[in-house]
Amino acid sequence: MGKPIVALVGRPNVGKSTLFNRLTGRRTAIVDDQPGVTRDRLYGDVEWDNRKFTLIDTGGLFLEDPEFRRDVEKQVGKALAEADVVVFMVDARVGPLVEDERIAQELLKAKSRTIVAVNKVDNFREQDFYEFYRLGLGEPVPISGLHGLNIDELLDRIVELLPEGREEEKEEGVRVAIVGRPNVGKSTLVNALLRDERMIVSDIAGTTRDAIDTSFERDGRRYILIDTAGIMKRSRLKRGIEYYGVVRALRSVDRADVVLLVLDTGAGVVEQDKKIAGYVEESGKGVIIVINKWDLHANMNVFRRDFEAYVRAELDFIDYAPVHFVSAQTGQGVDKIMEKVDAVQKERSRWITTGNLNSWLQEAVYLNPPPGSGKHGLKFYYATQVGSRPPVIAFFVNNPELVRSSYKRYLERQLRQAYGFEGTPVRLVFRARK
Ligand code: GDP
Ligand code: GDP
Repeated sequence: MGKPIVALVGRPNVGKSTLFNRLTGRRTAIVDDQPGVTRDRLYGDVEWDNRKFTLIDTGGLFLEDPEFRRDVEKQVGKALAEADVVVFMVDARVGPLVEDERIAQELLKAKSRTIVAVNKVDNFREQDFYEFYRLGLGEPVPISGLHGLNIDELLDRIVELLPEGREEEKEEGVRVAIVGRPNVGKSTLVNALLRDERMIVSDIAGTTRDAIDTSFERDGRRYILIDTAGIMKRSRLKRGIEYYGVVRALRSVDRADVVLLVLDTGAGVVEQDKKIAGYVEESGKGVIIVINKWDLHANMNVFRRDFEAYVRAELDFIDYAPVHFVSAQTGQGVDKIMEKVDAVQKERSRWITTGNLNSWLQEAVYLNPPPGSGKHGLKFYYATQVGSRPPVIAFFVNNPELVRSSYKRYLERQLRQAYGFEGTPVRLVFRARK
């Protein structure tokens, strides 16, 4: 089931990223007085009242995009049509500005479900926020993102507007999302995949508004390509599609088992690819890096090696992802994609027995004991797998706080060397033995 998406919009400096950090509990995003400072993180999960949603801070996206500033109307309209709920943030200290009104008009036009959050109401008695009624978007919610005032009320209002639990996905099979920036060849790839005559194809209504998935069968196995309608549609839009594409891509990732991150050799790895790849990792999905348009470089083995090295360096946080070269246009390499998808899904679903894990752990710790051993040093008691899709390995230790990130990385490397887990994130958790 796809998680609903809530977009946080508003002029620069109204406090979007402050609120984003508070709601998602992340401390990594950069908050700065200077408008337009880029943030590391744009997406985060929020859970409230047993409902989950993905929060997007559009600040980073919009501000990075000069097109947006020139073309607010079009962009806001398109972008917001994709969100389930929009939180439109304004600044109580400066009152509604002309830009706020322009954004409000677009929200009205797009018929988004909108909540106006009036931020920087640090003192409820003295500050007046009623003038924001004038934006025509209903009752504003006064908050202070910085001081954490009235945030519960805001969350209640958001959750009220979330769509009712979407229909459970009934269709069986491995769910595959194809993502990547415009023009890398996603729709050509979809066509190439579905052209294969060994397949039986049918369209199924997706779980979100105009998402149409395509289910197909091949060699007796079933797959679902997520949001094929969106992929096809997107490729026809000429410009202004970055944000639209990203939101839609996130939603597809949420619903997928395995993600094909498509790149081409022209632009290589762009910022958007990194963000989506980061999201894929955080969501625990399988991932395959597909490098398309290889027909343009088919006989250049050196280039291939260099290009792969470049891609791996750029996307080093998903260094477990297989890299696969294809040409969607000529069909070269396309029929191998689903084999790789199967392999990744298998790795993602694996369970390692506790006995097996513990022999491995003993050896790994013996080969490279954690620093600072002795009486107060880190001690490992045992490990056991506690989850799958993606695999989660719990390590029981004397004191989890003694696990340094370098040692965690060492263990993950060893784990992958021993068990593979190609194409899937693995989670290592450390718990104190009771
Ligand atoms: P963004 O550009 O919309 O993401 O805004 P930021 O989150 O970067 O915030 C801009 C400035 O407003 C920062 O200096 C924040 O500390 C400040 N700010 C954010 N929320 C509040 C609030 O509730 N009250 C006050 N007084 N300042 C706030
Ligand atoms: P999308 O926006 O990611 O869906 O990209 P499209 O599938 O619309 O492809 C963008 C452009 O790249 C089109 O002109 C395609 O014909 C071209 N293209 C797609 N795949 C290949 C390929 O494998 N080789 C070459 N040379 N061109 C390709």
